[in-house]
Amino acid sequence: MLPVITLIGRPNVGKSTLFNRLTRTRDALVADLPGLTRDRQYGIGRIGPRPYVIVDTGGLGSVAEGIEALMERQVQRAIEEADHLLFLVDARDGCTPEDLDLAQRLRRVGKPLTLVVNKSDTTDPTLAVADFHRLGLGVPWAVSATQGLGVHALIDHVFEHLPEGTDADWVQSEDDRIKVAVVGRPNVGKSTLINRLLGEERQVTFDSPGTTRDSIFIPFERPGHAQRYTLIDTAGVRRRARVTDPIEKFSVIKTLQAIEAAHVIILVLDAQEGIGEQDATLAGHILESGRALVVAINKWDGLDVDSRNRVRDQFARKLAFLDFAKLHRVSALHGTGVGHLLDDVDLAYANATRDLATPELTRLLEAAVMEHQPPLVKGRRIKLRYAHQGGRNPPLIVIHGNQTDKVPESYKRYLINRFRKELDLLGTPLRLEFKSGS
Ligand code: GDP
Ligand code: GDP
Repeated sequence: MLPVITLIGRPNVGKSTLFNRLTRTRDALVADLPGLTRDRQYGIGRIGPRPYVIVDTGGLGSVAEGIEALMERQVQRAIEEADHLLFLVDARDGCTPEDLDLAQRLRRVGKPLTLVVNKSDTTDPTLAVADFHRLGLGVPWAVSATQGLGVHALIDHVFEHLPEGTDADWVQSEDDRIKVAVVGRPNVGKSTLINRLLGEERQVTFDSPGTTRDSIFIPFERPGHAQRYTLIDTAGVRRRARVTDPIEKFSVIKTLQAIEAAHVIILVLDAQEGIGEQDATLAGHILESGRALVVAINKWDGLDVDSRNRVRDQFARKLAFLDFAKLHRVSALHGTGVGHLLDDVDLAYANATRDLATPELTRLLEAAVMEHQPPLVKGRRIKLRYAHQGGRNPPLIVIHGNQTDKVPESYKRYLINRFRKELDLLGTPLRLEFKSGS
């Protein structure tokens, strides 16, 4: 499972600035999709040797009430769930009484911690750092979140101090299994669905050594099917000590880790409750991960026609950016429609990992351009010449031509839709990259 790095510090020291820098997506197509909700508290860190979960506690507590509020239950939990804490202070302000107070509390937590002196662009970094030695939390690291100074080195340093080896290493080696993560907000019916998918006879008991933060990996097979699976259970179905409070048992960290570890996601939504903000945020995380996806709109049983139309409408409006995924209306409780979910998991995985031939991609590109030319830029037409596959899972199509940096978003989206339709790439997102001057 991905390590968890948590940002902590009093208001205005630059936590959210650092969070944004660490989690910023390099995928322009994803960044510009309309309706996409960005999570400001949890994200996947992409700067550094390998991915990690990054948590900004700034948005968790009610900051206005000061240090006491910062240490309330949610922050406490975020600290508990962390593998490493980054304690941010402000070089411009110097060491404040609040910093001293927070440092004392954090020392008691006993978690691996790095003291980060942010805004070191505003003053002499050596002097700034010197002032914070008295916090007694080791050697302070000078960074500038706005300018990106020292940030890469900081993350490298954190990775040197993370515990070795992770619980889920064994899963990585079983590469013939499709790893399927069942995710969704509390109470949408994940546990019920997982029990359906596993079935009573097919249960394989497995005791994971993980903590409550981590998901359980359950190997399973379908009778009469050659394909084997590993189910990533974020709902805690197979955990011995069950947590009953639905809010407590739900963890964004657990969900993010499961998404990253999976080949295919089953996103569970609740037709009776409708599609809310938390659903949209999760959907945003899934899109950014680039994972293949099947959507299960659960609790479809007992809905009248009006409610069904309302949910269809909400989905099309709020989650338009998931239009690449197959939508299933199911009832986990009654088992209706559940069988087909795994057929589409197979399909989504096959599409996400498919080999796309250069002549075919180039032919499709030519046809798309023929039908609808890219725009003129300062009197010169953008030329798109040929395409080849640059990666799988998700498929990446690299397009070569001239002035490709001028291709507008709307035209990129046109191309993506064309490729998706012509190649029949249901269930997987598709990414484009442009190269100029060949
Ligand atoms: P948070 O409350 O801890 O999340 O702090 P923010 O990220 O909102 O930052 C508070 C203010 O400090 C904003 O105006 C930022 O632009 C500014 N800031 C953050 N990092 C830096 C930095 O490295 N250098 C400078 N000069 N300003 C920064
Ligand atoms: P989780 O928190 O996502 O794991 O959700 P659970 O599987 O624990 O289900 C939450 C509640 O929804 C329980 O009371 C289930 O019985 C109920 N539920 C789950 N699936 C369905 C369904 O398909 N239809 C109906 N009507 N209720 C369901």
